[in-house]
Amino acid sequence: MAENAEYAPDFDISRPTIARVYDALLGGKDNFAADREGAAAYLKYVPDSGKVAKENRAALSKGVRFMAEQGIDQFLDIGAGIPTMENTHQVAQAVNPDAKVVYVDNDPIVLAHGRALLAANKSTTVVTADLRFPQDILDHPEIKEMLDFTRPIGLMVVGLHMHFHDDEQPDEWVRTLLDACPSGSYLFITDFVDTGEPLQKGMEQAGLESLGNGWIRTPERITEHFLGLPLVRPGLDFLARWFPSEPDRELTAAEDLEPWQRILMAGIGYKA
Ligand code: SAM
Repeated sequence: MAENAEYAPDFDISRPTIARVYDALLGGKDNFAADREGAAAYLKYVPDSGKVAKENRAALSKGVRFMAEQGIDQFLDIGAGIPTMENTHQVAQAVNPDAKVVYVDNDPIVLAHGRALLAANKSTTVVTADLRFPQDILDHPEIKEMLDFTRPIGLMVVGLHMHFHDDEQPDEWVRTLLDACPSGSYLFITDFVDTGEPLQKGMEQAGLESLGNGWIRTPERITEHFLGLPLVRPGLDFLARWFPSEPDRELTAAEDLEPWQRILMAGIGYKA
């Protein structure tokens, strides 16, 4: 199939998509009027939404760097988003130039931009696939060619897992993927959190208004997304004070963080 044919049928710029809204919030150029309207809804409820998005990207880098430092050299990044600054492959390959990265996203615009960016990078690829169909991800020929599922994998569900999916299913989708990863693998998640703060509720409201999804969840519920895996230090925490590579770092008290810094949490589970 021609590359364009692969994504053209779903390519509708009249409705916002989270990939493009997120790009707009990050200050990117790969978005359209409907997406900028979506971003405006986020900014209305959470004026620091751009900072929230950037902090999520920073957390992504922290998590990838940690996994790469632990020797992980294969990454399966689900819901990768439109390439922006400090992408997974750049962080991983800075630690280990041979690290392999597969980007998966169900928004075809990610494939369009990813293919262009990665044309010369033999260790990184991008495919259009959907977390809701995990077996299709595992059976995808490009993924099977790039990743060796007999060796540990860094499985990433960063910034999309629960909050864009409204039911109990996400855990089962991730379980299918995790079951395919051998011991020594990691599961890295960031998610919108609900600890009872109005700004967190505002983030949810913005998502529901602009995209029809984007639910917040309690820390207890987010912990369940790790499917029983023990979490590496410091456990599940607000992004701004989450430093898996520096587990002994003194943490800022949660109440001293800005309210916008208490919107997402991150954690990494280890499959022993
Ligand atoms: N992971 C990146 C990050 O944290 O910076 C991008 C996060 S962006 C907010 C969420 C991405 O997940 C979007 O690109 C969206 O298209 C993708 N996404 C949402 N639901 C998905 C699904 N069911 N399967 C695959 N990708 C999905």
